[in-house]
Amino acid sequence: MQYQSFLIKYAEIGTKGKNRYIFEDALMQQIRFHLNKVEGEFAIQKEQGRIYVNAKSEYDYDELICALQKVFGVTGICPMMQIEKCDYETLRREVLAFVQREHPEQAFSFKVRAKRADKHYPVTSDEINADVGYDILTAYPKSRVDVHNPDFIVYIEIRKNINVYTKNIRGAGGMPIGTNGKAMLLLSGGIDSPVAGYMIAKRGVRIEAVYFHAPPYTSERAKQKVVDLAKLVAQYAGPVKLHVINFTEIQLYIYEKCPHDELTIIMRRYMMRIAERLAETNDCIGLITGESIGQVASQTMFSLRTTDEVCGLPVYRPVIGFDKQEIVDLSEKIGTYETSILPYEDCCTIFVAKHPVTKPNLKSIKKSEEHLKEKIEEMVETAVSTEEVIWCS
Ligand code: ATP
Ligand code: MG
Repeated sequence: MQYQSFLIKYAEIGTKGKNRYIFEDALMQQIRFHLNKVEGEFAIQKEQGRIYVNAKSEYDYDELICALQKVFGVTGICPMMQIEKCDYETLRREVLAFVQREHPEQAFSFKVRAKRADKHYPVTSDEINADVGYDILTAYPKSRVDVHNPDFIVYIEIRKNINVYTKNIRGAGGMPIGTNGKAMLLLSGGIDSPVAGYMIAKRGVRIEAVYFHAPPYTSERAKQKVVDLAKLVAQYAGPVKLHVINFTEIQLYIYEKCPHDELTIIMRRYMMRIAERLAETNDCIGLITGESIGQVASQTMFSLRTTDEVCGLPVYRPVIGFDKQEIVDLSEKIGTYETSILPYEDCCTIFVAKHPVTKPNLKSIKKSEEHLKEKIEEMVETAVSTEEVIWCS
């Protein structure tokens, strides 16, 4: 069946009181953005706490659902029949015909839930529930009513028009992009940082990303992998502005001047400093990383505290309490895993010491950074001013 209309369900944004329309408008804008990629013509409509997507041409059902499932803020997608207000007999006939099209199986449990927003309609919700239930039981002798745990619910909403649906396809949840500021994601080629970006974007935050590239120690293919990951995150988060920073000189300089067991921490402190500079010039009000407590030496509580010390902006670490397997599961779900595990080296693996400190001493780190005084500011300046920007969508 080619559905003409879809009811878009949203949860949290319904609770925003007077600001509700801002969230609804942002959600509609996001739906529009995602539907631009789907072949066909669609109209997005708002009506008293309801958002509808109406198909104005032929379209591919799976493609449409797949696109709608990537819109943050959508909790459910209900393919429905929308009919004009009609007399009660016609309504009962139409509903039964719809159920028959939707559910060719013979044995099922169901319940009917009618909601009469238009109180002028001459039949009450309870009467509709009873009568439509009767119609279905008569047409399907093997079916039964189960009010607690039915196989499906027949929703009948009497509003300006009449909406009838039995399916609610799960959406991505979260909040619409653009309702919560913008943050800078430190995106490496690994498994964790794309997941971290996804999780923050899911809360309505627009994402930019920075990748520290170290040619020739890291290849063009490693960079392409990060671009590909940014594109995958952009499937949900909308276009991602990716800043590629050439980090080679800085890394070599740290390697030359600082104790090797502190390399990773000092490198990470410079990544954070540069990310923060980029954040500030691009209106980002937070940083995001894919760190998780204890995963590697640079992610112990002691190390994280040392990295945080250079940041003025809040650092969001949404996978901080996740085990690796939980992050992997999420990356598989959002479709970044296959790309993340491609074997191209990332810049940290080349410069890591055999025995990195796991309890870095802040005083000692600062003292080591003193050795960089002569050239580091200029190097940071050059790295920032020679950034390459790649729009990923
Ligand atoms: P991931 O799987 O995200 O690469 P990881 O387990 O490899 O994480 P680290 O290499 O210690 O962990 O990096 C921790 C975090 O620092 C990453 O999640 C990412 O946010 C950031 N990061 C690391 N390397 C880079 C890089 N080359 N460019 C940008 N950000 C990076
Ligand atoms: Mg990594």
